[in-house]
Amino acid sequence: MKNIMFIAPPAAGKGTQADLIVEKYHIPHISTGDILRDISKENSEIGHYVSEVLSNGGLVKDDITDQLIERRLKQDDCKNGYIIDGFPRNIDQAKIYDKILEKLGYKMGYVFLISIDEKELEKRITGRRVCENCKAIYNINSEIHSPKIDSTCDLCGGRLYQRKDDNIEAFQHRYQLYLEKTEAIINHYKEQGVLYEIDGNGTTEEVFQAIDRIISGDDEK
Ligand SMILES: [Zn+2]
Repeated sequence: MKNIMFIAPPAAGKGTQADLIVEKYHIPHISTGDILRDISKENSEIGHYVSEVLSNGGLVKDDITDQLIERRLKQDDCKNGYIIDGFPRNIDQAKIYDKILEKLGYKMGYVFLISIDEKELEKRITGRRVCENCKAIYNINSEIHSPKIDSTCDLCGGRLYQRKDDNIEAFQHRYQLYLEKTEAIINHYKEQGVLYEIDGNGTTEEVFQAIDRIISGDDEK
């Protein structure tokens, strides 16, 4: 069983790694955002509640979220493992997640902590450019990901721009929040012996290989 969770700072490539795991192991990517969006379309009491909260931009009550996650993890497609995303966000939720797993008879599996040098993250974020036409993403600080012609999309010739949040101040703010928010969760999983630290400074392929080396051929967990 491959139950997988990532703890990673912004721009660490968590989404890409999740996609690669889904592709190789055919396990579902469970995101709390998706669960809530799906349930909000359901014609039930809980569906109506979630739909109303989401359309008002509010936060769904914790106990409802917990219940929905448990319900989702119970489904057959999760029996061989899954990637959980967007949960737990804090230590209280981490303790609730422990209880959900216990109830379902599941193991924690692998918690991957992707560690990247702050300078590398800064480079990734401040160098990011997006095509205003086809949304392709480039990075002018990376040899392989920079566009062939300055400020121009290789794919469609569209103009490249920098997102408002992709600046150093916004990054540092988000990064500090990330460190504060994850410290207790990291210790929690370290104590459980399920935390695997991955060096995220390498290429997508290198990072994936490091993760895959840990999960491949190990069906006991
Ligand atoms: Zn383009």
